[in-house]
Amino acid sequence: MATTEASAPPKAGAATGPAAGPMGIFGGTFDPVHYGHLRTAFELVQALKLPEMRFIPAGNPPHRELTVASNAQRLEMVRSATAGQPEFNVDEREILKAGPSYTVETLAELRREFGRRPLCLIVGMDAFLGLPKWHRWRELLDLGHLVVAHRPGWRAPTMGALGEMLNERGTTRVLDLHESVAGRIYIHAVTQLEISSTEVRNLIQAGLDPRYLMPDGVCRIIHDSGCYARKDQAKG
Ligand code: ATP
Repeated sequence: MATTEASAPPKAGAATGPAAGPMGIFGGTFDPVHYGHLRTAFELVQALKLPEMRFIPAGNPPHRELTVASNAQRLEMVRSATAGQPEFNVDEREILKAGPSYTVETLAELRREFGRRPLCLIVGMDAFLGLPKWHRWRELLDLGHLVVAHRPGWRAPTMGALGEMLNERGTTRVLDLHESVAGRIYIHAVTQLEISSTEVRNLIQAGLDPRYLMPDGVCRIIHDSGCYARKDQAKG
């Protein structure tokens, strides 16, 4: 697909109905999901008035260990963590594919499914800064908006390809995310919770309890499955 950086983003269609406000799309390995993810998603649902936030756990090819917990375990943890929040949904499509999925392909699929509904791809600032390494990254804005959540210690770029893109596509108006289906970049400061999945796994490996870094249900799944325990402690 050719990039259309210079063209105006399409308008959101009334055909999708009044309930079809922008859908948030939150991808990640979620290995495991933690309060940094959940609080970010929740704050964005409220601030951007998103009727739906979809968590899309990344797939993992069966014979390559890109994640520590299995696909099934990560899915179970995300399901458990999101169960109590009506706007939160889990989308299994990347897990169900045999290999890793490119975000641009997932977004293109969602665009085909949801027609003229605005789509908001949520990324942390660290992920945003790495965007130029993503497959066909310039096409992402043809398919949806980018919503960048500030993470501790990261600043918005002012120069280079991302700086230019921000100048051209950046907005501070939430309404822009509702009135067009794609093409804008919105940066939103979220409560800074310095939690990362890597640190959570390291902590568990060191024999510590991850409680209060994630919902109790997720802690239970981790404990019962032994998915992050040291090999000599792992169950089964
Ligand atoms: P890892 O430590 O393995 O890199 P992670 O904690 O960054 O994992 P991911 O599943 O890779 O978790 O992240 C999914 C998305 O959530 C990314 O866009 C990432 O920037 C964002 N994210 C992760 N942790 C936080 C946090 N504490 N606050 C805000 N956003 C976060």
